[in-house]
Amino acid sequence: MTDQPEFRGLDDVETVGVVGAGTMGNGIAQVSATAGYDVLMRDVEAEFVERGLDAIDDSLSRLVRKETLTEEEADAARDRITGTTDLGDLADADLVVEAAPEEMDLKRDVFADLEAVTDEDVVLATNTSTLSVTTIAAATDRAPLVLGLHFMNPVPVMKGVELVVGERTDDAVVAFAHEFAESLGKETWEADDKPGFVSNRILMPWINEGVRAYDEGVATKEDIDRGMKLGTNVPMGPLELADHIGLDVCLHATETLHEELGDRYTPAYLLKRKVKAGDLGKKTGRGFYEYED
Ligand code: NAD
Repeated sequence: MTDQPEFRGLDDVETVGVVGAGTMGNGIAQVSATAGYDVLMRDVEAEFVERGLDAIDDSLSRLVRKETLTEEEADAARDRITGTTDLGDLADADLVVEAAPEEMDLKRDVFADLEAVTDEDVVLATNTSTLSVTTIAAATDRAPLVLGLHFMNPVPVMKGVELVVGERTDDAVVAFAHEFAESLGKETWEADDKPGFVSNRILMPWINEGVRAYDEGVATKEDIDRGMKLGTNVPMGPLELADHIGLDVCLHATETLHEELGDRYTPAYLLKRKVKAGDLGKKTGRGFYEYED
């Protein structure tokens, strides 16, 4: 039996460090603060930090309007979040969740930096959607304390968190990650560190096949989405969901799976063509459908 490594358990976690103040980072910061943790949210530019804090303000206000949170709870959560551009501030974190862009070299640089600034018993988690947690962990000297904490978008709404277990992730660290996610009101499942884990390994080819079916004239886009919703009880069909996630994000994830797992993940031609055209979905106002706002 190997010795369990020393790491800060849930009782020792007061401050959560979040790397990246974008879509996922600000969501993770918000749910951590709402659950009572102090949060340090770091991005590379002050304007990105501000944008993340503004998104949190908007999201908390929505929750107050829906009476999910009281005004006092929302204010208290907001007061627990500190934005920063200074990497050194993460020295105070008891756990760090990284939500920087989905690029291996960048994530490995971030983890090497985190290794340098945080105490050696601090667990380091990545929110990667498809990249190898084991490869990211190898940029540090504490691979047993590194795992994937894959939150779903939008973080405050989606209940599920996928725990990704790297080659050297310690079992006790996985148990800690379950407890941490549950302390945020989330529910978890575990996946081994194989390309796409459970979620994107299955979701991305589903979307990709929806795009192919549309391109090959199997049905109209509306009927493909309607058929999957009515036929399989999912809340969104593949083309609607692709527009929601972002066609560029779907293509990038599918390309990563294709590289790792071979031809059955070949990206649909139409998906590539739409991304080339800049039709990325809701965020650009046009994907498979058109959006007014
Ligand atoms: P995003 O582009 O919205 O945000 C990324 C942020 O990281 C940006 O603000 C960027 O300025 C910042 N950043 C870049 N380099 C940095 C560094 N060195 N230190 C700190 N911040 C840095 O991206 P996102 O959608 O939030 O995705 C983040 C991660 O979460 C990715 O790995 C992505 O695959 C994953 N993810 C995304 C979704 C989704 O639907 N958006 C869902 C699940 C997982």
